[in-house]
Amino acid sequence: MDTSASHSIPRDVGWIEVVCGCMFSGKTEELIRRLRRAQIAKQKVAIFKPRIDKRYSAEHIVSHSDQSLVSTVVDDATEISRLAGDAQVIGIDEGQFFKANLVDVCESLANQGKRVIVAGLDQDYRGKPFEPMPQLLAIAEYITKTLAICVVCGNPADRTQRTTISSERVVVGAKDMYEARCRRCHQPLHD
Ligand code: ZN
Repeated sequence: MDTSASHSIPRDVGWIEVVCGCMFSGKTEELIRRLRRAQIAKQKVAIFKPRIDKRYSAEHIVSHSDQSLVSTVVDDATEISRLAGDAQVIGIDEGQFFKANLVDVCESLANQGKRVIVAGLDQDYRGKPFEPMPQLLAIAEYITKTLAICVVCGNPADRTQRTTISSERVVVGAKDMYEARCRRCHQPLHD
């Protein structure tokens, strides 16, 4: 082989995919679907989620439709870098519950040639961008916005309506405290 041309030989290239939307829009189902396809193709997959999400199962990512995959619970995004090992595909659920350093971690993993797929809420219950998802969207190669159906009018819904009284940004748990609403039906100052 002519080694002078080695710089033009394609190398493994990584990238970042973001799957975002409101609650009940199927983000986690879509993440699971992509990860399952990679597993079927015999690619090494590692799946992470933040510790804050304690619902249903500590070791699985679980969608509302009860699909699940084994995952590792981490306290900080830096643990993902340490635990990723030789996985070719990295899945991260509930990206909005990580700190800002998730962005650098994803960038670094992608630069190492890994496919990084992050699912998360792009807006909080007031309809405001939910960091660090906006920053992640800006550097991602592929973006999928999943839409739910507005429970009030049936239009496509991209907002999460909180149906309980709380001004905490994050109220983890019971899905009956939230519902999907469209732009017209969403009431950001509900509380
Ligand atoms: Zn509506």
